[in-house]
Amino acid sequence: TEVPLRRALISVSDKTGLIEFATALAGRGVEILSTGGTAKALRDAGIAVRDVAEVTGFPEMMDGRVKTLHPMVHGGLLALRDNAEHVAAMEAHGIGAIDLLVVNLYPFEATVASGADYDTCIENIDIGGPAMIRAAAKNHAFVTVVVDTEDYADVLAELEATGGTSLAFRQKMARTAYARTAAYDAAVSSWMAAAQGDAAPRRRAFAGTLKQTMRYGENPHQQAAFYVDGSNRPGVATAVQHQGKELSYNNINDTDAAFELVAEFDPADGPACAIIKHANPCGVARGGSLLDAYRKAFDCDRTSAFGGIVALNQRLDAATAEEIVKIFTEVVIAPEADEAAKAIFAAKKNLRLLTTGALPDPRAAVTAYKQVAGGFLVQDKDTGFVPEADLRVVTKRAPTAAEMDDLRFAWTVAKHVKSNAIVYVRDGATVGVGAGQMSRVDSSTIAALKAGRMGAELGLAETPAKGSVVASDAFFPFADGLMAAAEAGATAIIQPGGSMRDDEVIAAADAAGLAMVFTGMRHFRH
Ligand code: 5GP
Repeated sequence: TEVPLRRALISVSDKTGLIEFATALAGRGVEILSTGGTAKALRDAGIAVRDVAEVTGFPEMMDGRVKTLHPMVHGGLLALRDNAEHVAAMEAHGIGAIDLLVVNLYPFEATVASGADYDTCIENIDIGGPAMIRAAAKNHAFVTVVVDTEDYADVLAELEATGGTSLAFRQKMARTAYARTAAYDAAVSSWMAAAQGDAAPRRRAFAGTLKQTMRYGENPHQQAAFYVDGSNRPGVATAVQHQGKELSYNNINDTDAAFELVAEFDPADGPACAIIKHANPCGVARGGSLLDAYRKAFDCDRTSAFGGIVALNQRLDAATAEEIVKIFTEVVIAPEADEAAKAIFAAKKNLRLLTTGALPDPRAAVTAYKQVAGGFLVQDKDTGFVPEADLRVVTKRAPTAAEMDDLRFAWTVAKHVKSNAIVYVRDGATVGVGAGQMSRVDSSTIAALKAGRMGAELGLAETPAKGSVVASDAFFPFADGLMAAAEAGATAIIQPGGSMRDDEVIAAADAAGLAMVFTGMRHFRH
């Protein structure tokens, strides 16, 4: 099953590693065929190369739309070398066998990501490349196909070891090749659906590239792997890891939740910190400094913060790093980190530090997927945002300016808490979070209970929920949930409104002297 390599066709847009690879192939006596730009790059480096145009007898034409789409190329890729009729056809038409195909495609995904116009994106849809890749992959019994520059070294190692390529190697390369062309067409189709404004195309394709294998999934008996979608959205998928062991499935999930939450707080409005456990915030705060924000977030629920994920909306500094290492933290993610902060973390071998270079845009349109038995649910990511001008005061008393600041902060945090979500906030920091309960009153009770317990732990004379404000991710169906919040010490409420009993709920708020605002928008999260 070992197949020698005599002839290669190389046609690549990304010329990374090209010269080294081609030099090594040429050094082994492999004849190289190539298309315009690739051939030029090879010739400039002094490597002998034959133009595909010479082999096909046709020039590259129509802006490169037609270069390799020819029987002299496709016959050379598809012919079965052990089939007498195929071999006779090759001889009759002067078709030479191509043993190795090296193609990487026009950068369609990068062109879309750069914000290019429609026609430019269309022109960056590669046609001949995928056709050759699919042909070579189909004929992997004889042909080796390479679609990623990262694989050049493996091909050379294979050649070094066997003088050719083994069937197992060619099979592996073939399945990678088909995943590449599938992902490419998925990107084209998704882009077209978005560009043409179709939120529910009849067919949808998903694709990803392996970023990381992991020891296990959510639990040790589950296999798992991490794939990137090519969008390059700043976050855990694109982050640089500076230290610590590999991220686990749960780490990645929680780090994502943490960073998406903290990215809601524009660094121009000051430092912010979110601490996450089991995908829910156990403390979120703004502060005069990053250190202050971290301390306030930590003080919301010190017990749960142990072994948590910390996300920051600004460059990590030494003072904050010094404070973070006082307890065990799994992951810290920030746009950047000072060298001094990195040095402090270096002593903590189990702490992972990730930097992303930037915060994701919380309003950017992103498609979200969820698997159900037999299918996928697809929806827009919740980027809903209610400007202050659209908030409607429904009680006799309007919130004070300080209450309003806290209400808006609480509302933003509630969007990132699993439903039913109840979030108490005081002075720009959460003081009690109730998450994931089936009853809204239970979430209220838990949030108040946690606030009270934390107050006692901090040695406060009264619960930090006293004089707080509260956010509810969906409307209060009855006045009971609202009254529970008032009893816990909240003075103002933010909620969507829209219950059949809004009148009752508003009357109860007025009777208790509470201020309440309606957002007109709900933030369920499951
Ligand atoms: P080069 O830089 O060598 O001029 O072009 C290389 C690119 O052309 C590769 O990305 C390859 O996939 C693509 N390509 C090769 N043959 C064809 C073809 O017949 N049509 C189109 N549209 N692209 C091709």
